[in-house]
Amino acid sequence: MDDVGERYARTRQYVDELALRHGRTPNDVQIIAVSKYQPAAAVAAVAEKGQCDFGENYVQEALRKQHEVGRPDLRWHFLGRLQRNKVKYLPGHFSMFHALDDAKLALDLHKKFHAVNQTLEVLIQVNVGQEPQKGGVLPRELPGLVNQLEAMPSLLLRGLMTLPPFDVDVADKQRFFSALRNLRNAEQVRTGWSLPELSMGTTDDFPQAIAEGATMVRIGTRIFGDRPVHGS
Ligand SMILES: *Cc1c(COP(=O)(O)O)cnc(C)c1O
Repeated sequence: MDDVGERYARTRQYVDELALRHGRTPNDVQIIAVSKYQPAAAVAAVAEKGQCDFGENYVQEALRKQHEVGRPDLRWHFLGRLQRNKVKYLPGHFSMFHALDDAKLALDLHKKFHAVNQTLEVLIQVNVGQEPQKGGVLPRELPGLVNQLEAMPSLLLRGLMTLPPFDVDVADKQRFFSALRNLRNAEQVRTGWSLPELSMGTTDDFPQAIAEGATMVRIGTRIFGDRPVHGS
């Protein structure tokens, strides 16, 4: 697992350089180390290097891994599609949900966290590329969902998340990231709320995302290597 730690350290260094290059401080750009399908030992190796925030896409897998890693100081981010029957597993296990895109799901989450007197930080996922099969609200649906969250005080809206279309040139991805930043800025002005977080950029495009103001980059492959094939 040594080289996983090394790859993480080099990635952190590069993210710091990019932040400085764009007139920001390294503290402004958090790495979410995306560990889906990766073994607990790899998570432990990266945590050993000082990384605290990890991202997972599947509830059962994440719970098993959290138990195996055994580091209650780590923060876990849920990145994937969340089925409503899995909502009950989130309290106590995740501190942020990056992919909120539905008012019914939001209400379920609010009720579950409210019942145990906890809060959950959330980001609304926006389908900036307006792709039919992709998760996220369409840009024009964003204000409606933001308004509904006002009645759900156990959910703390911190900002927005996006995953740009897969099949565009890296250089073209920049406009999806700037579109997300513009949507965030508009919602801040409209509501008067502070929405500091922009979760955007993965292994393929985090330099472009940092250039456009990403505060959270979700990096998996670059840190952990290729994901083992699921189900094997
Ligand atoms: C898997 C995943 C990532 C990480 O992707 P890499 O290309 O491995 O860096 C980031 N964001 C989301 C939402 C993911 O599902």
